[in-house]
Amino acid sequence: MKPFAYEAPADAAAAVRSVAGRPDASFLAGGTNLVDHLRLGLIEPGLLVDVTSLTSAEITDREGGLRIGAAVRNSDLAADPRVRERFPVLAESLLAGASGQLRNMATTGGNPLQRTRCVYFQDVTTPCNKREPGSGCSAIGGSTRNHAILGASEHCIATQPSDMGVALAALDAEVQVLGPDGERTIPFTELHRLPGDTPERDTVLDHGELITAIDVPDLPIARRSHYRKVRDRASYAFALVSVAAALDVVDGEVRDVRIALGGVAHKPWRARRAEAALRGAPVSEQSYREAAEAELADARPQDGIDGGNGFKIPLVTGALVATLRDLAEEET
Ligand SMILES: Cc1cc2nc3c(=O)[nH]c(=O)nc-3n(C[C@H](O)[C@H](O)[C@H](O)COP(=O)(O)OP(=O)(O)OC[C@H]3O[C@@H](n4cnc5c(N)ncnc54)[C@H](O)[C@@H]3O)c2cc1C
Ligand code: SF4
Repeated sequence: MKPFAYEAPADAAAAVRSVAGRPDASFLAGGTNLVDHLRLGLIEPGLLVDVTSLTSAEITDREGGLRIGAAVRNSDLAADPRVRERFPVLAESLLAGASGQLRNMATTGGNPLQRTRCVYFQDVTTPCNKREPGSGCSAIGGSTRNHAILGASEHCIATQPSDMGVALAALDAEVQVLGPDGERTIPFTELHRLPGDTPERDTVLDHGELITAIDVPDLPIARRSHYRKVRDRASYAFALVSVAAALDVVDGEVRDVRIALGGVAHKPWRARRAEAALRGAPVSEQSYREAAEAELADARPQDGIDGGNGFKIPLVTGALVATLRDLAEEET
């Protein structure tokens, strides 16, 4: 491993200056993804800037919702009574991720920024446009079981792996960011990018921009929400697909709904077409299936040496139907 410098500056502004001033510098939070990347030789930073004691580790009630400091650990967030009561989908998504030990280290800022688990991205001996722009994509025509069915490009078909991110996309969360030019707020659904022809960029953050907090608005609908994760093993595995959903039913009709999907795209996928199809529709399995069909109309499954990922279409449909059915039954 190449030697690197380590800094723990006095405040967030100093951390931003340090990273923004050096192209080879990175923020370090819980380290559960970044340190793996160092070990695998995916990155060779010259400087790591530790931000865990610079951003807030508090969950704060504020006008209109909760503010979650970027240093809040995933296990603390999942256990917070306000999160469990007002945003069950968020608590459930966190508990569906990783292991207890990892959740004790992983942070609110770092979790959504973890990088793809595409096996070729993690193997430095194979071509990968995300790791080395212009080198090619080994997944296309290779192993595609875990890859995207929506929003992919000819340059990259990777998926974003964060469970928490899927819940935050459904909840209309906002990301608070501090950069060299000051603060800005990014809707969570706009934080991650589709790959296009620059798959090396996962998000819209510029180098040196630091997530300081994530705000979750107090939507009444969020109190009745769930996360369903489908994976190869019952625990300690990334999602093949996942669904975060919140549902409001009045007199047998869907009054309002929020849906996001995981494991299907380069970003947590807000399912706005499915939401539009469901608003005003009768509460029934047929409505849920039609909503899934509307969302997946543009799905492009990938062939692959492992049988491809066409199975994700019925898997998403089944997971969405089951999640909405559970939520509707709780309403009655
Ligand atoms: C074996 C294993 C299984 C896992 N299973 C799952 C799973 O099922 N579901 C799931 O969702 N996750 C899973 N994870 C991933 C884990 O949840 C993430 O690694 C973790 O959440 C990342 O948070 P961190 O604080 O450790 O980030 P770090 O590893 O410290 O950082 C991750 C990235 O974010 C950047 N960063 C960190 N904080 C900030 C900030 N405040 N502002 C700007 N940039 C920042 C870093 O520079 C780095 O690029 C698993 C990990 C492992 C090792
Ligand atoms: S899918 Fe993306 S991350 Fe995976 S090999 Fe292709 S370019 Fe790399």
